[in-house]
Amino acid sequence: MTRIAIIGGGPGGYEAALVAARLGAEVTIVDRDGIGGAAVLTDCVPSKTLIATADVMTAFEDAPELGVRVGEDAAHCVTGVDLARVNARVKALAAKQSEDIAEGLAKAGVTVVRGSGRLADGGAIVEVTMRGGAEQSTVERVAADAVIIATGARPRELPSARPDGERILTWTQLYDLDELPEDLIVVGSGVTGAEFAGAYQALGSQVTLVSSRDRVLPGEDEDAARVLEEVFQRRGMRVLSRSRATSAVRDGDRVTVTLEDGRTVQGTHCLMAVGSLPNTEELGLEAVGVQTTRSGHIVVDRVSRTTAAGVYAAGDCTGVLPLASVAAMQGRIAVYHALGEAVWPINLKRVSSNIFTAPEIATVGRTTFNAESDDPKFDVVKLPLDTNPRAKMLGFHDGFVKLYSRPGSGTILGGVIVSPRASELIHPVSMAVDLHLTVDQVASVFTVYPSLSGSIAEAARRLHKDEE
Ligand SMILES: Cc1cc2nc3c(=O)[nH]c(=O)nc-3n(C[C@H](O)[C@H](O)[C@H](O)COP(=O)(O)OP(=O)(O)OC[C@H]3O[C@@H](n4cnc5c(N)ncnc54)[C@H](O)[C@@H]3O)c2cc1C
Repeated sequence: MTRIAIIGGGPGGYEAALVAARLGAEVTIVDRDGIGGAAVLTDCVPSKTLIATADVMTAFEDAPELGVRVGEDAAHCVTGVDLARVNARVKALAAKQSEDIAEGLAKAGVTVVRGSGRLADGGAIVEVTMRGGAEQSTVERVAADAVIIATGARPRELPSARPDGERILTWTQLYDLDELPEDLIVVGSGVTGAEFAGAYQALGSQVTLVSSRDRVLPGEDEDAARVLEEVFQRRGMRVLSRSRATSAVRDGDRVTVTLEDGRTVQGTHCLMAVGSLPNTEELGLEAVGVQTTRSGHIVVDRVSRTTAAGVYAAGDCTGVLPLASVAAMQGRIAVYHALGEAVWPINLKRVSSNIFTAPEIATVGRTTFNAESDDPKFDVVKLPLDTNPRAKMLGFHDGFVKLYSRPGSGTILGGVIVSPRASELIHPVSMAVDLHLTVDQVASVFTVYPSLSGSIAEAARRLHKDEE
């Protein structure tokens, strides 16, 4: 029986463990902070649960337009959120999800060891340091034929803006707040910064978003980012672009953020969302020949192999694409490879992802951003959301459906959807990209009338016309 040892119990680790156990391997998973990893305990699950409450608040925004009587303005129909209760729900849901995954692992016959793992003996052994209360730490050695490292990442901290967990916060500390920040400064306008800025504004905070770049969501579809920035500003968010924060300093119940050009921004709280660092420092990687990049990420190929024989890596510690879905796929691929099963190398052009703002931004495959550098030959059609009959009925104004296809063959290359629940709408586009469907094939499939997904078929029809 092949022995597989996994360091890290997030989606990269636990998905690998489940697949390996199903395929008959003897599996041990070593985890330091809780099964489910950051994905379940501090990142995806908590943030999306918080955003679920924010979405309820946003839903009331268009209530008067739909004829719902809400008093003088939408703010009068709900009196605000009880953040302590919201956060209690967030933490309980995350803990339960972690428990459910741990239970699934136990049922599958996976051995879970709580402690810090590191590689030893050329990678054939995982050394686990376990600390229990006042007891001295003990070390257990787990022998393995293959090791998968899936240790994830943690928030990057600036020395000049050290989080104190009360007023200057990382995203992992937000769920300990009992009261809604009155005046929240969010430093960083990437996906994490944008999601929290939007959510806290919907919950009732005054939000200032500090972005070092020209616009929010640098690196994402430009049209989508523009829509979101307009919506943010219309709702009253202060967006400071080309404004790099150099420090955040607390003085009592106020926080001052200083920008590179000397300007200052005042608030009651500051969320630092300035990226992540991989958890790879204390794993003994160098000694066993596992190469890392300058940023500390583990170098892997498309089947999750590191530069050391028998050692694989998956998830955020590899820096391939920081998504739970990608981590899980890399973990499964590592297992298939280690156990000699058929393997399809990871294909990032098929990854669908979503930014959980209001509206949401879902993307799959090639989009303008990477098509320019990657494959400049593409046709594109963008249909504004407010041309869709269902969107009109629902009072959805902001957003669009954009499809890319290859000229000639009409094969769908990718798409971007900006809409409420875009995360649910992107799936047909993902299937089209994955299965190499053509615009004609997509256009010929019935869609419900009226439906938002009707815009996907309509965009495909327009792409056919463009080819004539
Ligand atoms: C705020 C936020 C929201 C996000 N939302 C989404 C989303 O909606 N959808 C999505 O797809 N992605 C989302 N992501 C990204 C997603 O959280 C990560 O891509 C995912 O967590 C990566 O999984 P992982 O298995 O690599 O690592 P993690 O989930 O970080 O798990 C790693 C585990 O390894 C453990 N560990 C570390 N070092 C050791 C060691 N030496 N020994 C033992 N254990 C160790 C850690 O304790 C942890 O339990 C979000 C990220 C952030 C920051």
